[in-house]
Amino acid sequence: MNANEALKKLADGNRRFVDGRPTHPHQKPERRAITSSAQQPFAQVLTCSDSRVVPEILFDTGIGDIFVLRVAGNIVDDAVLGSLEYGAAHLNIPLIVVLGHTRCGAVTAAVEGADTGDHITALVESLLPAVEASRSKPGDPVENAVRANVFLETEILRQSEPTLAKLWETRAIQVVGAVYDIGTGEVEWLDLDRSTPE
Ligand SMILES: [Zn+2]
Repeated sequence: MNANEALKKLADGNRRFVDGRPTHPHQKPERRAITSSAQQPFAQVLTCSDSRVVPEILFDTGIGDIFVLRVAGNIVDDAVLGSLEYGAAHLNIPLIVVLGHTRCGAVTAAVEGADTGDHITALVESLLPAVEASRSKPGDPVENAVRANVFLETEILRQSEPTLAKLWETRAIQVVGAVYDIGTGEVEWLDLDRSTPE
């Protein structure tokens, strides 16, 4: 499967989920048996830990389909990069999706400048560039920062040396951004360079 096919598969799955007619593929014992010796997921998804944002469900996928990383604010750190590198370079997964979401608590904390004096502060600090980048934009500051964060992270992944940048430049991988609406269930694909799906 190439990146465009993977993107379409995710978009189709999200459409089924939104319409209330999911097929819950690949969740039976046979699938467990088939995938027990090796995995061959078709997409990587970096998203938030928020309990309302569940990639396997919102893309209507199953066991062995998507390689998922979840961390509050879907921020990129070295552990995330290493995981994505493994997926891209060793599992040959053609697509990376950075999936932000509406009403993100981590982004809200960053917009409000929360300083809790613990590790949450460090997490929030890594979201400040997105808050800064979207500060002058009209509209809701949290939703703007969510989008800016997805955009910035997508750029970080595309430029990440040595592995992801090389795969991106040689078009071996596609890196796209999207925002999940926790109310409607819809995934909005962001119009980024080389990332416009059907
Ligand atoms: Zn969140």
